[in-house]
Amino acid sequence: MQSGPQPADFADVRATNLAVVLRHVRTHAPCSRADIAAATGLNKATVSSLVADLIERRLLRETGLAEHRIGRPATMLVLDGQPYAAIGMEVAADHLTAVAVDLAGEQLLSWRRAFTGTETAAGKAVSTIAALAARAASRVAAQGRQVLGVTVGVPGLVDADGAVRLAAGLGWRDVELRADLVRALRDPKYDVAVDNDANLSALAEHRYGAYAGTANLVYLTGELGIGAGVVVDGRLLRGGRGFSGEVGHLQLDPTGPPCPCGRVGCLEALAGVRAIIRRVLPDAEADGPVTDFAPEIEEVVRRARRADAATLAALTAVGRHLGHGVSILANLVNPDVVVLGGNFVPLAPWLLPAAESELATRAVAPDAGGCKLVASALGPSAAATGGAARALAAVDAGHLPPLPA
Ligand SMILES: [Zn+2]
Repeated sequence: MQSGPQPADFADVRATNLAVVLRHVRTHAPCSRADIAAATGLNKATVSSLVADLIERRLLRETGLAEHRIGRPATMLVLDGQPYAAIGMEVAADHLTAVAVDLAGEQLLSWRRAFTGTETAAGKAVSTIAALAARAASRVAAQGRQVLGVTVGVPGLVDADGAVRLAAGLGWRDVELRADLVRALRDPKYDVAVDNDANLSALAEHRYGAYAGTANLVYLTGELGIGAGVVVDGRLLRGGRGFSGEVGHLQLDPTGPPCPCGRVGCLEALAGVRAIIRRVLPDAEADGPVTDFAPEIEEVVRRARRADAATLAALTAVGRHLGHGVSILANLVNPDVVVLGGNFVPLAPWLLPAAESELATRAVAPDAGGCKLVASALGPSAAATGGAARALAAVDAGHLPPLPA
């Protein structure tokens, strides 16, 4: 039997306490050390030591004195965080994005470039992704900020080692993306991670979105595929091997159209971006498969605005399929909100009414269990923003960056 806490426990306790102090200052700044001690129940000596660590790492700074209600003036603390930034990237079938966000939540850069993921061999894609990551990292470093991490979102099954087991939309199978990126970036000092794009988007919504902090939240990607990032009780649901959330391949109609996954009638085959374009613009693929969806989606929006009857009927049908898919999620995890992202956002005014009514009909709980269905307001780079949020959340959790040399 061991008696008393072991060193690992001390480290855990300290990380937890650092996180408590950071969270208190985030919500109550400016505040004094005494305020923190009073509000958190930590003793004053502990708070002083924790605050010293956080000031040394420039996560907090002092802002001069403020009169206390009782007693002598106290030095007030606010979040700093500007010296640190994290980079998030998203690999989509038709584009790459990179964003950098500092710990105070300010977006430092947002880049988007065309990228035909579907036609690019995985090896060449890795060097393109690494080159963009390196450019973003040196831009951030040139601003005098320390890069905490680069996290790349991929539309597919990503295991715990950051390997992409399957990304059907990109035609990738067993790509050791994290390891390849670390090599291409020459073992950088910052953390390199790869995660599923829907998971990262859900993290972005949970940290920065209109429903930030909602304990039970689902994000549905509307890129080439449809994936779900599922936050339950404030935590991302990953499952045994990290492969949860593949709602795009829920079979909604056994007699439905073929899906790239080899099955038929999947949600993705009925309501994915290709299905929408095929329904509204049947000629769009006359010259081969569409690789850049933005202009086609713009055309769909134009026709919907003109109240073109065939377009409205098609979007209503797609909205119904979406609502059907969402009702399965609602029955399974009872989310407070389901956020539609990607190409669903510009189409939301026409998709949502049918989706909401289908959800209400198919969910077993009254009022769909309180599930709201909304369009994301984070813009097209939600997954990349979530990639940045992932590294920033580690600091929030008390895992402090190393001291600058
Ligand atoms: Zn499928």
